[in-house]
Amino acid sequence: MFRFRDESTASKILERLRSMGLNLTLMHVCGTHQDTIVRYGLDLLLEGCGIEVRQGPGCPVCVTTMAEAEEAVVLARSGKTVTTFGDMLRVPGVSGSLADARAEGADVRVVYSITDAVRIAEKTGREVVFVAIGFETTAPSTAVTALKGMPENFSILCFHRYLPPALDMLLSMGELKIQGIIEPGHVSTIIGVRPYEAISRKYKIPQVIAGFEPLDILMAVYMIARQVKNSESIVENEYNRTVRYAGNLKALKLIHQVFEPVDSMWRGFPRIRCSKMRLREPFSVFDSEVRYAEELKEIIDADFSEPEGCSCNKVLRGLMEPRECPLFGGVCTPQSPIGPCMVSMEGACNIEYRYRRIAKIS
Ligand code: SF4
Repeated sequence: MFRFRDESTASKILERLRSMGLNLTLMHVCGTHQDTIVRYGLDLLLEGCGIEVRQGPGCPVCVTTMAEAEEAVVLARSGKTVTTFGDMLRVPGVSGSLADARAEGADVRVVYSITDAVRIAEKTGREVVFVAIGFETTAPSTAVTALKGMPENFSILCFHRYLPPALDMLLSMGELKIQGIIEPGHVSTIIGVRPYEAISRKYKIPQVIAGFEPLDILMAVYMIARQVKNSESIVENEYNRTVRYAGNLKALKLIHQVFEPVDSMWRGFPRIRCSKMRLREPFSVFDSEVRYAEELKEIIDADFSEPEGCSCNKVLRGLMEPRECPLFGGVCTPQSPIGPCMVSMEGACNIEYRYRRIAKIS
């Protein structure tokens, strides 16, 4: 028996939670957490304890804006080789997705790492663009490649983001009353505990960093409930088998050496201060937005409207559950997604559909 999936321990935690008699709405910001929650039915079990857990802006592909998706499509259609992780392929931009561009003949390739993309540039001699997606977890590998040196025909369309500024924005908007946040184990492995502390102080909200197994999540919920019961609002680390207080200093140094924070739109959110990573000098010559500024000038940072009827904005702010979207499971499915939350394996709609396959109940 894998000890982080032990049923009898889970039952004991749930029993404790039930006996607390609380009525809580919590948020997490991680596609992998959502996967565990839905796959193991933890949301249904927690509902029986008076606790609802909603997913917030924790899927990097989902928070990528229409304008950013469109930038990649425009570069592909203008003859560059665009390399990307698979999840990004079908995210709709304004004029279609990268998959659409590929069907029209553009050179769009799925890669498993930035190293693969660099190899394509070296081998083909073509202008190669790598679409860099992800929070603090994936940014270090982009940074390592930048520091090692990249071929001149290679550039990075950088959509890496910092998570804490989004948490701050979410709480400052105050649309959804939440009593605690479960923080992602992988991002926290890089950034540590400290960046969350200012948020707990500012908003008087409990936060617990959690691993990805069912018992990690149940324990994190219990730790938040215990804080609520004791009128505390601190940051606790349930995932202490991996996450250190100061984070991964080496990775943080790499991020700092290569990127600088800039204000940015996120899908579903207004502009968030210092929330996006931009290649700093001397790496900015490898920034696709700088190199192809003329081609992208109408698109960068444009505020394009969402696909008609798409509710991803609300799903990403925790205001709507996937099944509440009128398009869920009917017009919008993983086979023909309308919004990024259905495209990405980390998106709330995709996860709901994959595990529960619930067609819209009208
Ligand atoms: S069901 Fe589709 S359109 Fe609706 S919120 Fe989810 S991804 Fe967006």
